[in-house]
Formats: sequence, structure tokens, C-alpha cells
Amino acid sequence: MEGNAHGRRAMKTRRTVATRTKRARPRVARPPANAAARAPEILERLRHSLPDARIALEFSNPLELLVATILSAQCTDARVNIVTRDLFRKYRTAEDYARADSRAFEREIRSTGFFRNKTKSILGMARALLERQGSEVPRTMEELTALPGVGRKTANVILGNAFGVPGVVVDTHVKRVAARLGLTKQMDPDKIEMDLAALFPQSSWTQLSHLLIHHGRRVCGARAPRCAECVLLDLCPEGARRKRGRRGR
Ligand code: SF4
Repeated sequence: MEGNAHGRRAMKTRRTVATRTKRARPRVARPPANAAARAPEILERLRHSLPDARIALEFSNPLELLVATILSAQCTDARVNIVTRDLFRKYRTAEDYARADSRAFEREIRSTGFFRNKTKSILGMARALLERQGSEVPRTMEELTALPGVGRKTANVILGNAFGVPGVVVDTHVKRVAARLGLTKQMDPDKIEMDLAALFPQSSWTQLSHLLIHHGRRVCGARAPRCAECVLLDLCPEGARRKRGRRGR
């Protein structure tokens, strides 16, 4: 009896450990089937149709790009560029931001929206640069995402556009266009980033982000994608679905 009870306890323990091990293992992103076959042609056609796709934020050094990217949350790049024209003349170093008066700074960036949170992020980020990074913007994902107000999206913008380190930027346009093109089934930006990184060559990641953002702005809009004019129509499951829907009417 005691032996059986011991055996049952041991089995239960083994099962619990096995279940925990299974749950603890990080999920590997798997892009949808056939996405890998379509990805190279999607990249090629986007490159051809959008040769001018590049970052729209204006900056002349990594710190300016970091500030501009934080300001661009829920705001147009054009509005950010207007605000940063004066801002970058006044604040030139991490020390300038770290010493800034938060009320005055809030007024200066007010028109970009969410100005209280953005002020907290930018001034906090500048203080962290002074304390931990010798006033320099770091060049690694780990160090960047450890700064206040900096997530993977912002970090990838900085890595790709200020330091030439390839990164997939998943913003609202990339999220929408990648889903419609059947390049991901994920909703979480970090998982979408993993799917896209698995489908496209590393050297293309930064440019791919610009291409998907520009395609999302110009052709594949949120409310009314212009599928009939889209160079990707024959490669796009959502385009095919919409085409079938029109025929069915
Ligand atoms: Fe977007 Fe339509 Fe083009 Fe697909 S075919 S990428 S849904 S515009």
C-alpha cells in the first residue's frame, strides 16, 4: 500500500514537473503556412513600388530620434517634426532634457498629445542616460528597453535608423498590413515582430518596416484598403477575400 502511494505521488510529481516545463517553454512564433513562399515577392514588389520609403521623423543624432519617436506615439510624424524644430534648438544634450522644467516642457510638446506622459518619459529617459549610459543613447535592445518610455517598437526605430542595426518595427500600420497579407496570425506586437523576422532576411528588417508603414498609409488603409490598385493583390489573402465578396454581391 505504502509503496503504491509513494509510486502515485512520484508519478503526480513527474506529471506536475512535466506540465510546468511545458508551460514555461517560450512559444516559438510560426508564421502562417505559405507565408514564406510569398514573402520574397512581397518584399520585392514593395521595394519597387515605394522606392522613397524611409523614416519620416526628422533628426540629426540618436538622441533626437529617441525624443521624436517617443513624441510620435498617437501623433502624426508631420506634427512631431513641427514641434521638434524648436525643441531640438533648445535641448541639445541629455543634460538639457534632464534639467528641464517639466511644466515648461509639457507646454512645449503639448500639441503632440499625451504631453504629461511624454514629458515624464523623455525627462526620465534623459536622467537614466545620464546615470547609466554616460549621456549616450545605447546601441542594444536590452539597454534601450531599460530606459523609461522605451519599448521594443521605439528601440527598433532607434537601432535601425540611428545605428544601422536591423530591426522590425511593429506599429499600427505594420500590424494591420502584415495580418491582411497573411504574414502573421498574432495580435501581440512582439510576436508579430518574431513572425516577420522569421520570414524576411535580417538585412531587410528596417526597410521592410518602412515599406509596410508606407503601404499601410498610401494603399492599405485601415478603413478602406484600395485593393484594386494594390501591387500585392494576387499575393494577399485579404485582397482575394474582398474580391470574392464584391463578386458575390
Ligand atoms: Fe491591403 Fe488589399 Fe493590398 Fe491586401 S490587396 S495588401 S488588403 S490593399
